[in-house]
Amino acid sequence: MSEEGPDLVVAGAGGGLAGALRAAQLGLDVLVVEVSEHYRRGNNTSMSTAMIPGAGSRFQRAAGIEDSPELFFGDIMRKTKGEADPRLARALTRVSARLVEWLADDMELPLSVVTDFHYPGHSADRCHTIEGRHGTLLLDHLVGRVKREGRIDLLVPARLVDVRLDDGGRVRAAVVETPDGATEEIPTRAVLLATNGYGADRELVGRYLPEIADAVYHGSEASRGDALRIGARLGAATAYLDAYQGHGALAARSSTLVGWATVMHGAVIVGKDGRRFGNETTGYSEYAAVIARQPGSTGWIVLDKRIHDACLAFTDFRQTIEGGALVWADDVAGIAAATGLPADALAEELATTAALARGEGEDRFGRTFFEAELAPPFAVVQVVPALFHTQGGLVVDEHARVTREDGSAIEGLYASGGAAEGISGHGAAGYLAGNGLLPALGLAYLAADHLAADHLAADHLAADHLAADHLADSSPLSSTRELTSEEGSA
Ligand SMILES: Cc1cc2nc3c(=O)[nH]c(=O)nc-3n(C[C@H](O)[C@H](O)[C@H](O)COP(=O)(O)OP(=O)(O)OC[C@H]3O[C@@H](n4cnc5c(N)ncnc54)[C@H](O)[C@@H]3O)c2cc1C
Repeated sequence: MSEEGPDLVVAGAGGGLAGALRAAQLGLDVLVVEVSEHYRRGNNTSMSTAMIPGAGSRFQRAAGIEDSPELFFGDIMRKTKGEADPRLARALTRVSARLVEWLADDMELPLSVVTDFHYPGHSADRCHTIEGRHGTLLLDHLVGRVKREGRIDLLVPARLVDVRLDDGGRVRAAVVETPDGATEEIPTRAVLLATNGYGADRELVGRYLPEIADAVYHGSEASRGDALRIGARLGAATAYLDAYQGHGALAARSSTLVGWATVMHGAVIVGKDGRRFGNETTGYSEYAAVIARQPGSTGWIVLDKRIHDACLAFTDFRQTIEGGALVWADDVAGIAAATGLPADALAEELATTAALARGEGEDRFGRTFFEAELAPPFAVVQVVPALFHTQGGLVVDEHARVTREDGSAIEGLYASGGAAEGISGHGAAGYLAGNGLLPALGLAYLAADHLAADHLAADHLAADHLAADHLADSSPLSSTRELTSEEGSA
């Protein structure tokens, strides 16, 4: 690292690592500061199911899937009822396939497109993931790349506590604090805030997300809203602070993710009275608040062997089984005995669902897809609603630059992932699978591209100046100028 400091300081070793790696690839020196020693198993990227959407990727083409950024953009706007920031949604849908291909080809992440079930709200199969479908595998891979990259230094544990601007309003330093309380000002011309949102700050959650404030928080403990506080001091604008990703399928017993693939393969969710209470296929994010409103704030997912087998591709689901959260029963009476749910109501509900799966009648909640009839033996798992992460944050432009209320960019300051405003509109219902990792990895990638272009432009400018100076030096006119008395006496 040069004496002037790194070209870029990335705060947060989650999705921000994509920005660090991209910047290094483009010839920039990077320092990553990470507050938590346990980030590799504790941050949201590591906790995720590693589903990364890419619209129009080569993986999709190979699988015969027709898709495009426009189609993806349409899905985002439909899911958010037109509320998502269209400029950001466009930028992210446009970069999504390039991001996925860069991760696969340049970062050698073994990705493939998921076709064995369909995520709600996506009109094409566009989620790409790795074998095991877990964020730890994704993050471990990125960390491995970072450690082999000579241009990146990783400082752990160290917390970004502030960013300093020069008189022109451009980033000039990052202020970093070590656990002993010592702070250091690191000179740099760019900082990427990749510190995630404010899900671990109960006060902020209570203020902005009251409907989910009492639910289990199942996200990084380091998501304390640092980017919001730093951004506020620098005059940054914020947006969509009421947006979040919830989840309706966290196993009560093992605190592991059961996963919505269960529902998309035909499982149903019933309440304490043994009855379904909504259309489960609308989306797992909004279903968290639906479950939170049920008596006891809980529900039971009922599935069968076929669904069980189909979900084994997910590490989270396997951990749920290993955690003893799944209870098997040969019939409805067995489920009732194991769970305390009323047998008669449950039997009636499952018979109604079976008829719907056969195409008989219309669901009273509007669910149209059941994949197949549930068949014994049944498995049942009790779930509680959870808050996974917040989706609002600092307003950014299409290059991930943080902007002020008047729309002007704070030069050199970037934000990604949960630190930035998302593309999920307001509340929980606008969240589409992938709306977490796409802004986390995609905005970090875009920030690096912008910063590198900025450097290139500055180098060109410097080269132009040098050339101009050189030209001036060797020009007969310049000799004349140098010799003029006015300039000489000035
Ligand atoms: C169970 C689960 C499953 C999910 N599955 C998916 C999925 O399949 N697809 C999808 O798109 N999204 C998914 N999400 C959402 C996704 O994980 C997040 O949106 C995304 O990982 C956020 O990335 P990030 O870089 O903003 O935050 P993180 O990955 O949490 O990284 C932020 C890092 O910053 C560090 N940090 C915090 N403050 C500071 C500071 N001041 N200085 C230095 N470091 C700091 C933290 O320790 C952390 O390591 C899931 C979330 C959960 C909880």
